[in-house]
Amino acid sequence: MKAEEYIKEAIEKVKVKNKGEETFIQAVEEVLTSLTPFIEQNPQYIENNILERIVEPERQIIFKVPWEDDNGKIQVNRGFRVEFNGVLGPYKGGLRFHPSVALDSMKFLSFEQTFKNSLTGLPIGGGKGGSDFNPINKSDREIKRFCESFMNELYRHIGPDKDVPAGDIGVSGKEIGYLFGHYRRLKGAYENGVITGKGFNYGGSRIRPEATGYGVTYFVQEMLKDIGETIVDKKVAVSGYGNVAWGVCKKVTELGGKIVTISEKDGYIYVPEGLTEEQVEYMLYLRSHTELTLKDYADKFNLEYIAGKKPWERKVDIVIPCAIQNELNLDDAKEILANQVKIVCEAANMPCTPEAIELFESNNIPYAPGKAANAGGVAVSALEMSQNSMRYQWTAEEVDAKLHEIMKDIYEKSKEMSEKYNVSLAKGANIAGFKKVADTMIMQGNY
Ligand code: GLU
Repeated sequence: MKAEEYIKEAIEKVKVKNKGEETFIQAVEEVLTSLTPFIEQNPQYIENNILERIVEPERQIIFKVPWEDDNGKIQVNRGFRVEFNGVLGPYKGGLRFHPSVALDSMKFLSFEQTFKNSLTGLPIGGGKGGSDFNPINKSDREIKRFCESFMNELYRHIGPDKDVPAGDIGVSGKEIGYLFGHYRRLKGAYENGVITGKGFNYGGSRIRPEATGYGVTYFVQEMLKDIGETIVDKKVAVSGYGNVAWGVCKKVTELGGKIVTISEKDGYIYVPEGLTEEQVEYMLYLRSHTELTLKDYADKFNLEYIAGKKPWERKVDIVIPCAIQNELNLDDAKEILANQVKIVCEAANMPCTPEAIELFESNNIPYAPGKAANAGGVAVSALEMSQNSMRYQWTAEEVDAKLHEIMKDIYEKSKEMSEKYNVSLAKGANIAGFKKVADTMIMQGNY
């Protein structure tokens, strides 16, 4: 059987088996088709039927999360943990608390996470979890009660050598604290490496909050180097205003670039001269006060707020989507193309639709996928696990230097594969991430 035919057949099977799970199917289709030239030259993967094996999650856990709101009413949410692939290490990946969370998004995120984690070169498998719980406008006590109820079920599935969650959308330091505190009580033991993104006081890593955004910026620097440019004075459009966006804004501003937009679902702010350091820091305050919106931020600093539009309509040098899957579609991509943007680098997980990616690649706009560019977050999580195992904490400089090296290495690996198989950087990243997982599955025999 030829590679193309084998890949098509594997995708068809995924579509039948996972009916209605559109985002998961989208992610699988993107990764599998990008492997064509690689599998053509390495037919042993066809003999091993590796594709059908690699798209099946090892374990999918769905559970009930009842919790009491401040009015004494019992609410019910649904909790998830998908342990997608564990050949490289304990399952690793964040927890997302967001109304869009369902089995489909959990499967797509844990599938992507598997290849992302492989790219880091660190010993971590791929997983993801979360709940359709919406933390917006919830009181601190409600969030605590929810986290405790969530952990009442999750704790039996996780462990420092088993499955290690962390944060994602809607889950930051505060929630991680409640989750870890409750896990510790349930287990009666200080299993420090069971969760990452912890506060420094109780085993967190320096630079973990900044890591995703810093890593993305280091990755962008490598992409710029390739076209003979630097980040100094570049205009950068960012979407979102959460943890990832904040890290990108902080590092880009520090290195002399200009962040001209950040956004929320219903609009964005435009700052032609670039956000100041003070404005970037205030994003943290905004994020932790869910009753505030970006419009309030714009009013506080007297900035232009454009309602009902996306930041991609602006003429900038670099576009960095930092919000959520499929936020940047074909129409946005057309605007980006017309604006002669130099680089598109994903910081969120799969923010560009397949049609948008196709447009960038067919017009030779350097484009990097989230699974390569945003791997700095989970990489520093893996470094947090190392520090927990050693019962020791590195300095910020030590962690940052390691992060920088890891990001350069991911760029190199992706580029090497893209050159070897004559494909785009994004496809090169897929090949590099896939190869390590697939080869290890074969080595371990039964996976
Ligand atoms: N949620 C982040 C991601 O998408 C970080 C996961 C982690 O640190 O385990 O990669």
